Amino acid sequence: MKTSIIGYPRIGANRQLKFTLEKYFKDEITAVELQEQAKQLRQLHWIIQQEYRIDYIPSNDFSFYDTTLDTAVLFNIVPDRYRKLNLSAIDTYFAMARGYQGPNGDVKALAMKKWFNTNYHYIVPELEDGTSIELTGSKPFDDFKEALAQGIRTKPVVLGAFTLLKLLRFTGKKNIADVKADFITSYSSLLDTFNTLGAEWVQFDEPALVKDLTLADIQLFQELYTAILGRKGASKVLVQTYFGDVRDCYSELTKLDFDGIGLDFAEGLKNIDLIEQYGFPTGKQLFAGVINGKNIWRNQFEKTISIVGRLQKHCHQIILNTSCSLLHVPYSLEQESKLSSDHKKHFAFAQEKLSELAELKIILAEQHEQVSNHPLFTTNKALFNGSRVVPNQAVQQQIAALEDKDFIRLPEFEAREELQKEAFQLPLLPTTTIGSFAQTQDVRANRASFKKGSITEEQYVAFNKKKIAECVQMQERIGLDVLVHGEFERNDMVEYFGECLDGYLFTEKAWVQSYGTRCVKPPIVWGDISRSKPMTVDYSVYAQSLTSKPMKGMLTGPITILNWSFPREDISLKESALQIALAIREEVLDLEQHHIRIIQIDEAALREKLPLRRSDWNKEYLDWAIPAFRLVHSGVQAETQIHTHMCYSEFEDIIKEIDAMDTDVITFEASRSDLSLIDVLKRNEFKTEVGPGIYDIHSPRIPGVKEMKLTLTKMLEKLPAEKLWVNPDCGLKTRNTKEIEPSLTNMVQAAQEVRQSL
Ligand code: GLN
Ligand code: ZN
Repeated sequence: MKTSIIGYPRIGANRQLKFTLEKYFKDEITAVELQEQAKQLRQLHWIIQQEYRIDYIPSNDFSFYDTTLDTAVLFNIVPDRYRKLNLSAIDTYFAMARGYQGPNGDVKALAMKKWFNTNYHYIVPELEDGTSIELTGSKPFDDFKEALAQGIRTKPVVLGAFTLLKLLRFTGKKNIADVKADFITSYSSLLDTFNTLGAEWVQFDEPALVKDLTLADIQLFQELYTAILGRKGASKVLVQTYFGDVRDCYSELTKLDFDGIGLDFAEGLKNIDLIEQYGFPTGKQLFAGVINGKNIWRNQFEKTISIVGRLQKHCHQIILNTSCSLLHVPYSLEQESKLSSDHKKHFAFAQEKLSELAELKIILAEQHEQVSNHPLFTTNKALFNGSRVVPNQAVQQQIAALEDKDFIRLPEFEAREELQKEAFQLPLLPTTTIGSFAQTQDVRANRASFKKGSITEEQYVAFNKKKIAECVQMQERIGLDVLVHGEFERNDMVEYFGECLDGYLFTEKAWVQSYGTRCVKPPIVWGDISRSKPMTVDYSVYAQSLTSKPMKGMLTGPITILNWSFPREDISLKESALQIALAIREEVLDLEQHHIRIIQIDEAALREKLPLRRSDWNKEYLDWAIPAFRLVHSGVQAETQIHTHMCYSEFEDIIKEIDAMDTDVITFEASRSDLSLIDVLKRNEFKTEVGPGIYDIHSPRIPGVKEMKLTLTKMLEKLPAEKLWVNPDCGLKTRNTKEIEPSLTNMVQAAQEVRQSL
């Protein structure tokens, strides 16, 4: 049996790509040096895969920023405003990804959205009427040739025509029907070129096929591939799906002239039923996604082998594959020196997943009767004997004792809103920020020294307090109305809480790319979660002592903590969420007792794990996620103001549920997409007060007073001034102080000027 993977993480085991890119952005290295370092990284990753004898090693899974953007650029889908900057090809690309502000002009970045149900973000390509869609780029070919020169005939990976069409935004009058033919021509030329270059396989990623499809979608998919495959040559074509099952298009998918079909058997369990019910076409190869590309737990060989056994009854050529790209997991356990071997043996990061594929290949080569005696099999089986963790009785009893009333905050919203307006006396359009301020070099160095043990806890805390004091001073200077302490003690909004809670495990280098150069290091839920000590009280109380303005307590909510952790698989997500909710609830009540009167409970990642199919939204997710959030704050006094914050959320379709989280204020990302969400708020008579971010913090660009006033004025056309807050669209930790202070000063000025005009 052969092995394959869908994609390998590209940022580098030590985040080399991130640091190289940052140097390039700071003009410290040239484009040539950047390309050279990227080349070395690609080579390294191919060699690792070769060492594990992966048969179908991907290429073009590498990207400087995002592969969706790469694919758009490959087909000349570059909006005019970026072309007009007259930058080099690579700088035009970065202008689309990050915005550009310099001698050649001032242009915002393209919108970013979450990649299906992951925490990876893709850049949303924009297609203008005047754009001529054609194969103008050469990146996939260059990467293929580069690997070939290294002696590896890779399987190039390109985002498929259907998914690209579904993800891009039409900005003019044209729609899918108008550009279909050009897509077909462009993808056909791409196949032609790979044919000429001698690619054995070309992989088209089509994750959009696992979503709910309309008849028109299915027709579009059929039409695109009937034409594209009609002109294919010797290169075989693999259609690769992931993140779910293909129930809506299985029959079309198997009838088209693909040589290989990639299905996910981790998240798409229904795929097995489809195969058993409808069969699998002979002559085609099944790329069976049996190694979970999203979790960090060891694969349970017994289960996998039983799945493969079921599949073998219907498919004659099976290739062992990952369920999705390994982009979503960290590099390797080899980097982890602090985790004990008792812990480590339960985990598999990207590199260990390669080894699992290699081991499965060995085990499956055995005669059927020999499989269960194989030492690789028995060692694996022992990991799942049920003795991994000891349950925490106290937590389990607390959960068992929960009643309906524990999930309801009283008095109701309107009564609280009135009391709070009275208590806080904030001006109209109150200004605030989302929480974090610049994570400068010294802030990181302080944390690192403390971790290493080279400074004492007193020294560590004293430094953070100095930072907090400076931050409070800066906010007062800027004139913000509701202040924050700046989150200098936090490496990350989830990892920090994980470290304070019992039941979590941490890694040193387990970075996962979130967007562009930004990586996160999700902690691992190992056992039952509980709070053993206050987590944020000291810093919040200190920060409040420095100002007469209200200081927001700053917490991360249970769903985000869970969604940005690697969760357990031996208990339900709901159960883990309730455990975390109870722990955060204790912290909320503790803050309140210490006179923190506004508490923000971030749920940045709430939307992220919404099932891809609408029919699963409620029963599989929202029905426990929203109550878990409510449990966190249902115990506070009426005058305590509860905020939440969400990023990149396309929450139009769950707007009612968001209102039902029953917070007093919500701030969210709005600036990088259009303001259409404001209409949705209006239409749904959204009760919660809102702070739709009025500028984009993901870009180094400094927004002007005029443009923010305009944004505010537009918002006020739809929302009552009494409900509107003014804030950036997310935390400021990735920005430097030189960008932060002028941006916020402009923001406050914009708010003041609009306020006066009311
Ligand atoms: N309070 C967090 C911060 O400001 C929120 C971050 C986020 O939404 N991702 O950093
Ligand atoms: Zn955010």
